[in-house]
Amino acid sequence: DLVLSETLKRVKPSPTLAVTQKARDLKAKGVNVISLGAGEPDFDTPEHVKQAAIEAIERGETKYTAVDGIPELKKAVAEKFRRDNDLSYTTDQIIVTPGGKFMIFAAMMATLNPGDEVIIPAPYWVSYPDMVLLAGGKPVIIETKAEDGFRLRPEALKKAITKKTRWFIFNSPSNPTGCAYSAGELQGITDVLKGAEKVWVLSDDMYEHIIYDGFEFVTPAQVEPALFDRTLTMNGASKAYAMTGWRIGYAGGPTQLIAAMRKVMSQSTSNPCSISQWAAVAALNGDHGFLKERNAAFRERRDLVVSMLNDAKGIECMSPEGAFYVYPSCAGCIGKTSSTGIKIEDDESFAAALLEEEAVAVVPGVAFGLSPFFRISYATDKSSLEDACFRIQKFCDALE
Ligand code: PLP
Repeated sequence: DLVLSETLKRVKPSPTLAVTQKARDLKAKGVNVISLGAGEPDFDTPEHVKQAAIEAIERGETKYTAVDGIPELKKAVAEKFRRDNDLSYTTDQIIVTPGGKFMIFAAMMATLNPGDEVIIPAPYWVSYPDMVLLAGGKPVIIETKAEDGFRLRPEALKKAITKKTRWFIFNSPSNPTGCAYSAGELQGITDVLKGAEKVWVLSDDMYEHIIYDGFEFVTPAQVEPALFDRTLTMNGASKAYAMTGWRIGYAGGPTQLIAAMRKVMSQSTSNPCSISQWAAVAALNGDHGFLKERNAAFRERRDLVVSMLNDAKGIECMSPEGAFYVYPSCAGCIGKTSSTGIKIEDDESFAAALLEEEAVAVVPGVAFGLSPFFRISYATDKSSLEDACFRIQKFCDALE
């Protein structure tokens, strides 16, 4: 039998990927499944980005690069931070990783010692707590409330900070809720962090560009310059440029931290894919006009899904500022029984019964650390979303 490491025993596999797989299995059996589980834009990578990659291959940019990224990309990242976020990083304060996911992992691996605490507001992106565990740290979860728009209250953050707190992980717009912090809302949080001098901030800005209704995106180091020297401002190509498969994440942060993360990479991944890096240069330096059109499509879908879900019996759904997720409550369905006799005890049995009876795949809130909710990704075409919401309405209607 295979003997597993104690480290690996501490973590679970990604639950969102598991739901997507289950939906795929059902599809393979011929079931007409609508999968609202995956967290990736359904749009294609922009043409000029693809062309840059093709040209890079033809130029022979197919070899190892500097571990932390080619100079051209680091320069483009520095310019992006200056342009969009009023943040000024030198190139030794910039790092590029194979996806944003590895960025967080490298930061945790580089800095955590056993017993170190990392504060994570819930609902959280599924990988945060497990990456902290993999790195030997201790996730400290603070639950937020739907009535606060799933935003963390500054006093709750203050209460959770101890002598052992090493990091605070912040994500706006959020996966899974889509909720985002305005400058004023973020100020309450950064005021607390300003006074907690030992705590470092990891700001996951992955959904920066996917925002609606004129919302103005802000990031902690921008709102509170006093945090600049202990903040890792992280972003990536996956969501903004529909480049999930290319695996490019990037960040700006203090030189020492970046050097430590570079060391983790140098002994694990080496450089991010050379071709993807050239594609990312084109994405960051290129025209961002396509975002407007895509965000308009996303917003239309959000409005459709929110309104149809609020018409479903027992479901309540707020309309978030960004990303491509909604996080409705299924509290009104708990305690009921489905038409085939499945008892809805929590969001997990809700999601399981919904998949079983109406072939709609959603991710139960328990995966994100806050129940009784579920996550819907609306990064799919309108007619599938409409069909899925009809099925959810039908499912909820039939509960007794
Ligand atoms: N952070 C958040 C909040 C995400 O939702 C994701 C992807 O789902 C990532 C980071 C990582 O993205 P990637 O590794 O594709 O850059």
